Amino acid sequence: MRVGVALLVVLAAAVLLRPAPTGSFGWSGLRWPTPEATQYVGLAPPFDESYEGAMQDWTDGTGFEFSIVKEYRDPCESGFGNSTENGVEFSDKACGMEWPSGTLAMTFRHPSIGIAVLTGTGVVFNDNLDWGFYNGPPDPELIDFRRVAFHELGHVIGLEHEGSADAVMHPSSTLFEVLQVDDYAGVVTIYPDIDNPPPPPSPDAKPPPPPLDPRVACAKQHLLAAGKLCNKAIKCQAKDWIRGPDPPALLKCVEKAEVRFVDVYSAAVERAVDRGDSCKLDDDPGDVLSNLDSMMAVVVDRVTDSGNRGDESEAKLVGRLLKDSARYCGKISRIESKDAVRGNESVRVKRRQKARAGFEKKFSKKVDKGADAGVVYNGRPVNEVGDAVDTFADVFAAQAVD
Ligand SMILES: [Zn+2]
Repeated sequence: MRVGVALLVVLAAAVLLRPAPTGSFGWSGLRWPTPEATQYVGLAPPFDESYEGAMQDWTDGTGFEFSIVKEYRDPCESGFGNSTENGVEFSDKACGMEWPSGTLAMTFRHPSIGIAVLTGTGVVFNDNLDWGFYNGPPDPELIDFRRVAFHELGHVIGLEHEGSADAVMHPSSTLFEVLQVDDYAGVVTIYPDIDNPPPPPSPDAKPPPPPLDPRVACAKQHLLAAGKLCNKAIKCQAKDWIRGPDPPALLKCVEKAEVRFVDVYSAAVERAVDRGDSCKLDDDPGDVLSNLDSMMAVVVDRVTDSGNRGDESEAKLVGRLLKDSARYCGKISRIESKDAVRGNESVRVKRRQKARAGFEKKFSKKVDKGADAGVVYNGRPVNEVGDAVDTFADVFAAQAVD
């Protein structure tokens, strides 16, 4: 290799098989100078939150400190030139290469030349695949993002595949959901400088959690689909207010959101049937859609109530408030999806309260700022808008979850 080449690229594919090191954990031979790494995460929700959760699990479980900056960085640039900022993204190419068949994600690692010290890593997820969130046995048609993120972050730390033990770093990256003893041993061995590492995971952590009831899995996906629908469809209305009325464009925008909803909804029904069960909700997505549409219409009506489209400043303000309402609707539907198993009621309630408070704050700030600039908001008060969005999520969740 030419001396001028400053960096060496090491690939670690999620599912490429390589000979398993005998004994315990696999190590790439690379490590960070200190047991810590900052990740730049600009993924779309809910992937951002899931990625952050996977980082936290490594930190809590091993003492390796991951920290987050919620900004996008190109993972294919990470470690090159001056960029020591570790990026992550979904892409239909693996940093310019076609994805090898069966590869879910790749971690690109850049060591300083001649020294086994990492200067940057980039994680890329294969955007040609269907990603979701669930517990239990891996479903070849829908990949659980959280598990693969957890595995790739192990590569970021410096770990390599380990096929001979139970490990998150098993070459099949979707098998294990929680940290295994072997992964722990790997990190604390590579980084003897971790201060007071936590105790190793209990061997009881070994058995993967019981498979999700197909109905619960279906409810989760249905709630995610509903959240995406209201987020996208209400944003179509927002655009129409901000840019000025354009009925054909509005129709096209809403139709696109609805088609996507029907696709995701129907796929969830099919998966449940494949597993020998059914979903709780009607298997005709058209009926469900018209029900959701009428609940979304209430939200839009409350925001736009008596709004004057003729006044450009007022129309823009209404558009921006619609956007906030759309985001809030997406967010609380995701919270409901997460909790479709009714795992922890108090956590769910807290998350919902936090989301609502955040929404009200943003919404009111915009209204106040408009008033300061002489722009009058004629819609309904924020609590009535919030209630309408909450109703959307509450009613749908009650229908979708047993
Ligand atoms: Zn891997």
